[in-house]
Amino acid sequence: MKFDTKVVRAGIIPDPHTGSIVPPIYETATYVLPEVGRDRGYDYTRSSNPTRQILEDNLAAIENAQFAISFASGMAAVDACLKLLKSGDHIICGDDVYGGVTRHFDTVLSHYGLKFTYVDTTDSAAVRSAIQTETKLLWIETPTNPLLKITDLEAMATIARENNILLGVDSTFATPVFLRPLELGADIVMHSTTKYLSGHNQIIGGVLATNDTSIRDKMKFIQKTIGNVSSPFDCWLNLSGLKTLHLRMQRHSESALKVAKFLENHDKIKSVLYPGLASHPQHEIAKQQMSGFSGMISFELTGGTESGKQLMNNVKLCGLAESLGSVETMITHPATMTHADVPSEDRARRGLTDGLVRLSVGIEDVNDIIYDLEEALEKT
Ligand code: PLP
Repeated sequence: MKFDTKVVRAGIIPDPHTGSIVPPIYETATYVLPEVGRDRGYDYTRSSNPTRQILEDNLAAIENAQFAISFASGMAAVDACLKLLKSGDHIICGDDVYGGVTRHFDTVLSHYGLKFTYVDTTDSAAVRSAIQTETKLLWIETPTNPLLKITDLEAMATIARENNILLGVDSTFATPVFLRPLELGADIVMHSTTKYLSGHNQIIGGVLATNDTSIRDKMKFIQKTIGNVSSPFDCWLNLSGLKTLHLRMQRHSESALKVAKFLENHDKIKSVLYPGLASHPQHEIAKQQMSGFSGMISFELTGGTESGKQLMNNVKLCGLAESLGSVETMITHPATMTHADVPSEDRARRGLTDGLVRLSVGIEDVNDIIYDLEEALEKT
């Protein structure tokens, strides 16, 4: 199957009992066994569930992975991944990642003996020099949240292979439409399915995909033991959203480029970060490893933090909201919202200023999005 066909069809067969073209929601905790010691593939929904299985098969197919495991949230997926490690292990993590990830690493997992070093992963030499004998995992977001940095994944895969380190990639911003990290040498791909993969602001979910049977077995074991599973109803909603992923991403990407160019040419805008702009510091790598640049833009106003806040308070169509990757355009102030728990000195070190505005460009008419920004900019 070609990619667009996989998005719509992979893993989904008409229900054998009724012919229903849409998979049923198996909203059940348990399954009646035909006899002691034998089941029909399912025994308890914490371990597996038919609706979740269909979602996992579809997600594995579009990521070009052998296996996918669906979790209750993106953070639950990150957590399961880190549970592959043990006390004393060291992790190299990109220096610009979602604030919830650093919160989890620094305020929860560090209490269990895991050690973290944050490195600018756009600099391969810096990654190499951060490696210690205990380094077991290289964790990368690309594009990053919120600075939209792009890391060369083939270079990271070479470093990881040479040093016997696992490479995990949070590919939430790119989606499998534009980037498939396993094909570039990653061991594990993670997504917050809350975002583009479900696409309609209805669910919280996460997924891990891999081609490695032992990683898959460990992840399934962790999931079955802890129970951080996505509900059958959420899996079903996610499946519905997924069917238009390729169409939505095309529109997100086309519109984001137009909005980014509009902002870049506006005299009240100081700087714009969008991987599809020639001015983006890693534009060349983005062009090489991604087939599109997705729908996320970050920018700063010439008037600084106050003007940024005025803009966010004056938009009408763009929703001032925490999330991203949905059909609706959303605008976010990372310093007080998504990255509020990152200490201010760490934010400053990584270049996340209080004036940074993050925009998730939706699939409305792009002229309406630009008009809304234009009107709000006039008021700053
Ligand atoms: N990774 C990235 C890049 C994110 O932006 C987010 C949430 O915003 C997460 C992970 C966490 O996902 P969730 O909110 O589904 O737990």
